[in-house]
Amino acid sequence: MKVLVINAGSSSCKYQLFEMDSESVLCSGLVERIGDPTGTLVHKIAPGTGKEKTVRLEQHFTTHVEGMREMIRLLTDPEDGVIKNKAEIFAIGHRVVHGGEDVTMPTVIDAKAKQMIRDNFIFAPLHNPANLMGIEVAETLFPGVPNVGVFDTEFGMGMKADAFMYPLPYSLYEDLRIRRYGFHGTSHKYIARKTAQFFGKRPEDVNNITCHLGNGCSMTAVRGGVCIDTSMGLTPLEGLMMGTRCGSIDPALVPFIMDKKGLSAIEADTLMNKQSGLLGICGTNDMRDVHAKREKGDNKAQLAFDMAVWRVKKQIGAYMAILGHVDAIVFTAGIGENDAFLREKACKGMEDLGIVIDVQENSTRKSGVRVISKLESKIKVLIIPTNEELEIAQSTLLVLGK
Ligand code: AMP
Repeated sequence: MKVLVINAGSSSCKYQLFEMDSESVLCSGLVERIGDPTGTLVHKIAPGTGKEKTVRLEQHFTTHVEGMREMIRLLTDPEDGVIKNKAEIFAIGHRVVHGGEDVTMPTVIDAKAKQMIRDNFIFAPLHNPANLMGIEVAETLFPGVPNVGVFDTEFGMGMKADAFMYPLPYSLYEDLRIRRYGFHGTSHKYIARKTAQFFGKRPEDVNNITCHLGNGCSMTAVRGGVCIDTSMGLTPLEGLMMGTRCGSIDPALVPFIMDKKGLSAIEADTLMNKQSGLLGICGTNDMRDVHAKREKGDNKAQLAFDMAVWRVKKQIGAYMAILGHVDAIVFTAGIGENDAFLREKACKGMEDLGIVIDVQENSTRKSGVRVISKLESKIKVLIIPTNEELEIAQSTLLVLGK
């Protein structure tokens, strides 16, 4: 059974075609710069295997429809195609950023679901319109094939009011639904399930803290498979320090900076989202470059790294307090999976709290799910590679009763 996963952006479209019986990726691709005079399409057949083959195209894609038509042509190419006919695709799963308060699980797309995505344009003005466009293009190009929306905010709906409310006038929640929603939910949900699998238990019987540390960073406290708190909020700006985002700061700083620097609200938003975080402190948003600079004695790069670690560590402590019992701390995403030094620093000095990292094991490069804590560690420290696309594909089948 084959499921196509689509992640549509305003001028791009990422896709992966899964064979669900073997959970393997038949092909993946990315159409970029849709609408520009020259767009690109990179299509990978059997990615990550010995048979990987890449097709690169440079051409003008007027709209997403043209980009996705080209994708279908490559999928069904008589020579290199991974399917004979687009009718082989059983269902299409779409990443949708914001489902507001109404969406607590993956949803089969119908008129009501589309309206709900529209109703949440206000919270994700760049993403939700593009996600909806991806759905509508798929409806046109794959008539009769079910479309399923899998929402970044779904998992955060496990939070209770004490965790999701901001201590602002209650009317702001009533009038505008201002509350914490959380993001990266698809990744956090996948990791919660994989963590339970690691222990050979049901998700209901496992508590974990997940550190999704990539260009965007977020952490969740998961009790019995349910997200009871997460670090991102109304927007993906809240919480940890990230590549270019500041994360949580004193809110009074915003009007202060606007006043002193003469910034508009949009300029202040850009400053916090695009010019802050690692980039704001040391001039690069890529953690590999931060390390390279730090190792050459760059004090600001060292500070940026130390600040990022400090915040992860503080969040681990906070989530241990609200969970009471923790089975595992899980690191995932680009930094979480690859940055041994950050993991070591974030877990160091917590032996009395039941976390004993195995420095040797932590710094040995291996793939797959790994334990990086010592045997005596009461709380296991794990690395679990995230796979949001597979989670979307599996959720798509699940909601369709397969
Ligand atoms: P993601 O958003 O999940 O793709 O993660 C991107 C981040 O992962 C970037 O900051 C990269 O620098 C970081 N990253 C990738 N590989 C490594 C590595 N080997 N060591 C440290 N950071 C890494």
